[in-house]
Amino acid sequence: ADLSPVTVIGLGPMGRAMAARLIRAGHPVTVWNRTPSRATDLVTAGATLAPNPTAAVAASDVTILSLTDYQAMYDILGPTVADAEHRDVLAGRVIVNLSSDTPELSRAASDWAAKQGARFLTGGVMVPAPVVGTPDAYVFYSGPEEVFDAHEPVLRLIGEPKYLGADPGLAQLFYQAHLDVFLSTLSSLLHATALVTAAGVPAVEFLPGALTFLAGVPAMIGDAAEQTARQLETGEHPGDLSTVLMMGATADHILRTSEQAGVDLELPRAVKSHYERAVAAGHGTSNWTALYEVIKARD
Ligand code: NDP
Repeated sequence: ADLSPVTVIGLGPMGRAMAARLIRAGHPVTVWNRTPSRATDLVTAGATLAPNPTAAVAASDVTILSLTDYQAMYDILGPTVADAEHRDVLAGRVIVNLSSDTPELSRAASDWAAKQGARFLTGGVMVPAPVVGTPDAYVFYSGPEEVFDAHEPVLRLIGEPKYLGADPGLAQLFYQAHLDVFLSTLSSLLHATALVTAAGVPAVEFLPGALTFLAGVPAMIGDAAEQTARQLETGEHPGDLSTVLMMGATADHILRTSEQAGVDLELPRAVKSHYERAVAAGHGTSNWTALYEVIKARD
């Protein structure tokens, strides 16, 4: 049977990778991008470049958005639905927004789409563009389950779909939480490298070993991940191998080493502050997981 047409709007590295994957799978693909030149290779590969967003949406039942943020969706589709001649173009269609933004804005966008008569899925792509469409790719989704189920085969081409639930905010909640881990890790790797190079040691003598160390972190926590999760839920933090006081002393040493090195202090200050406030709250002799008590709710 002929495969269903799919529209992709937003042709950054991510949108281009997704459109290319859909073309390779045999779907008729229509694309639109604010900067049309980004569509050139896709058109060569068989995509149709729509002349405007209205035509792009009208070409398929399913439109995938891959944009910098949710505002870009309103910038692109807002004029279409404000135009009396085309205001019904979204009615009955499925919009799959795979752009990054806050859960709150995903929920508002879902309401907005419902007002246009569209069904709306939110998603967060968890791998870089070159990994899209490979067995390592996965994508979080949220929104109406029957809409997800109906389009799962198409979405599966992008990466393993992981459906989280009906709340449209869930996919971006999970996306932001994972990127929280990722971006903090990247900043800490660069900060640590700066610490070493400030002493005249070439980065290459540090970074590969640091990555090996990083790869060992899951084993430090992982064997006890479920136990750790339970401790976080219950607020009980037994354990005297890595106490808040011991780890906090190290956090202070990192800050002082950073001061002497002349490198940026924001990250070590933030980490040290977690330990200081946990100690002040009486968690000094608890397991390091007690930091959660000061992190989980802002004063
Ligand atoms: P880019 O920033 O390169 O592309 C963003 C796209 O949004 C472009 O097509 C751009 O159009 C369009 N755009 C932005 N603002 C507007 C606007 N106001 N009006 C019209 N079009 C607009 O991003 P990526 O392709 O890398 O990423 C797309 C999404 O995927 C992002 O939300 C990103 O967080 C997410 N993502 C990206 C990953 C990656 O590795 N790249 C990994 C995981 C998720 P134009 O070409 O005209 O500028």
